[in-house]
Amino acid sequence: MIRRLIELLSCTAIGGSVALGLELAPAQIIGGAGTGAMLWLALDHHRLGRYRDWLRSGQASGAPDLPDDWSELVERSQKGYKLLERETTKAEARQQQMVAAFQASPHGVLVLDSAERIAICNQSAADQLGFNAERDLGQHMSNLVRDPVFVSYLRSGDYLNPIEITSRASAGRPPRRISLQFHPYGPGNRLLLTRDITREEMADTMRRDFVANVSHEIRTPLTVLSGFVETLLSYDLSVEERERYLLLMNQQAQRMKTLVNDLLLLSRLEGTPAPGRTEWESAPELLEHVVEDARELSNLIAEGSHDIEAEPCPDIELAGSYTELLSAMSNLLSNAVRYTPAGGKIRAGWQLLPQGGAQYWVSDTGPGIEPEHVPRLTERFYRVDRSRSRETGGTGLGLAIVKHVVQRHGGQLRIDSVVGQGSTFRIELPASRVRLAQPELVSA
Ligand code: ADP
Repeated sequence: MIRRLIELLSCTAIGGSVALGLELAPAQIIGGAGTGAMLWLALDHHRLGRYRDWLRSGQASGAPDLPDDWSELVERSQKGYKLLERETTKAEARQQQMVAAFQASPHGVLVLDSAERIAICNQSAADQLGFNAERDLGQHMSNLVRDPVFVSYLRSGDYLNPIEITSRASAGRPPRRISLQFHPYGPGNRLLLTRDITREEMADTMRRDFVANVSHEIRTPLTVLSGFVETLLSYDLSVEERERYLLLMNQQAQRMKTLVNDLLLLSRLEGTPAPGRTEWESAPELLEHVVEDARELSNLIAEGSHDIEAEPCPDIELAGSYTELLSAMSNLLSNAVRYTPAGGKIRAGWQLLPQGGAQYWVSDTGPGIEPEHVPRLTERFYRVDRSRSRETGGTGLGLAIVKHVVQRHGGQLRIDSVVGQGSTFRIELPASRVRLAQPELVSA
């Protein structure tokens, strides 16, 4: 400030001195001093203009090079600008992060303004409700989602509970079940959260079907059993008759026992970690075991009339659970016996695969399976031939168990079948679970 005053006084003095030097009248000397002051004012105004123009540019760079007090003003303004730029960059980064998180959400997030127009909306909300996240921004919500349940919910203002709607099917995508709820905030704004619950609903339906199926499967033998118990209690039967009834009752009790055992096995397979790779089981031993069981089963249901043979087995070992592998292998072989008519041919074996790993296979000359049934065979209680399954003691859970065991061992189940010719079931295990048999370590 003092420097500017000195500058003003100097200009005034110079103006006066010039007039004095020219030996002008006193009034003109005062005029000369005034002219000096005016010149200084014009210069100062010019500096103010440069400073103002730079301020208006709104950028820290390009600051004018001004002397004295002006330079301090420029410096301070420049610092302020730099601070502002830093804060703006930080705020922008924060905002971008929020937008990215908002977009990454698997749940739909949407904001409606007081006129029910879409103000903000992420991709999930647009996908779930069937509109375009960019194009439809600013549109009226009720023009985009016309489901009457949704429209009356939107208008009701009662958002205490969520509602569920079925969204439109879009290109190549089936309709989805969507749960949504509004959360009002601010002056007239509403936050809408949406969630795709299609899978949950399907799981619920499967659970209900499963419970209904289990109840049905248990009720059938139980009804037969209680019928026999009533007969035994109500009638005076001969010893032979009683024996016959007791045998039939035993069959039904065994059927229930097998069913409960299969259910327990399934729940164990689902509820325990997959078998590790520390235990190695001999494939030839497993094969011998299941083929023996299959012959016994054939003796029981077809007087041993099946031609059952195991193909020569490579001397390999498999990493996994002995009981699980045995159960999967035996299920496939017992199915072959149960569904192949008497006299049919059944073959089973292990072979190494050219791409690594090994494959267990069972082929039969049974009735074969229509192609439309094949993808559903591993569903619980799915049966193509209901009566044959029951007659031969099937629970409808065998292939579901096989599928679980195979998946737990990192493998795949493949089914090939030709109606009237027979079927081949294959279990493929990955190379990591197969090795050549290790020679026994003999201690000296
Ligand atoms: P189940 O206890 O009824 O045999 P599974 O899950 O083992 O149940 O098999 C499902 C269905 O697949 C069977 O009911 C049967 O209709 C069909 N199936 C399985 N194996 C064979 C086979 N080798 N030949 C023909 N049909 C078969």
